[in-house]
Amino acid sequence: MAELPDDPELTPTRYDELSSHDPVVLFDVLGSGVVAHVALVRDGEPIVLGTAYGFDDDFLYLHGSTGSRLSRDMADGRPLCISIATLDGFLFARTGFDSAVSYRSAVIRGSATECVDDEKVRALRLINENLMPGRWDELPAPTRKELAATLVLRVPLDRVSVKVLPHHDPEDDFDDGSGADALDPRLWVGSLRVGLAAGEPVASRGMSGEVPVPESVKRQMTRFVLPE
Ligand SMILES: Cc1cc2nc3c(=O)[nH]c(=O)nc-3n(C[C@H](O)[C@H](O)[C@H](O)COP(=O)(O)OP(=O)(O)OC[C@H]3O[C@@H](n4cnc5c(N)ncnc54)[C@H](O)[C@@H]3O)c2cc1C
Repeated sequence: MAELPDDPELTPTRYDELSSHDPVVLFDVLGSGVVAHVALVRDGEPIVLGTAYGFDDDFLYLHGSTGSRLSRDMADGRPLCISIATLDGFLFARTGFDSAVSYRSAVIRGSATECVDDEKVRALRLINENLMPGRWDELPAPTRKELAATLVLRVPLDRVSVKVLPHHDPEDDFDDGSGADALDPRLWVGSLRVGLAAGEPVASRGMSGEVPVPESVKRQMTRFVLPE
């Protein structure tokens, strides 16, 4: 993918300098996230629902039950706005006004089309890979019945914006812009990184004998660790 579009509609009014048009940054955001929040208008009212996703160089992929209203609404081609964001930390500034969160965020505008046949299976694999990398290859292939019960959709990644508020390095003697001189120097200011952290795997009942924890679970445990 070349540079992301430079379109006024996709440009934040505030802090445009935090925008990035670099596809590498986009794919970092998409690969760091797990949940996409999909906004659409239903019966004249906006609604936002969270869902899993996958992606490749050109499309974001979403899936759901054929009985899901979200899936069916998305499939009819109406405009969508999709937000994917990772919270990276907090800035504890000298004032509430200047306190902030650090994040990596992408907004995707567009509409969905249905994936069928081989593309459907490939898209399901990509969604699984973004959720639980490596698990797809440990599992049986989806059955016809399962495929028939699942709607898989793709949204082109051609109307995308990316905004990143980097984490503040606590080693920096930072000026948070709040006019520190006039404020209490005994007030702790600094930053705190946060992230999703995996717990210990808990095995279900019903396995025969000692079944080792698979690679996909181990990968997830190294993927989601508390930041230093
Ligand atoms: C975890 C998190 C917490 C945040 N907390 C706050 C908060 O408390 N207060 C606050 O004002 N803002 C917050 N933001 C930033 C917020 O998402 C907007 O970027 C911001 O409000 C500025 O909006 P705007 O009016 O400039 O954007 P608009 O002018 O309304 O947006 C125009 C276009 O810019 C693009 N755009 C705008 N924001 C983003 C974004 N975050 N990521 C990617 N593309 C974007 C979209 O394509 C959008 O269509 C937060 C963001 C995240 C991810």
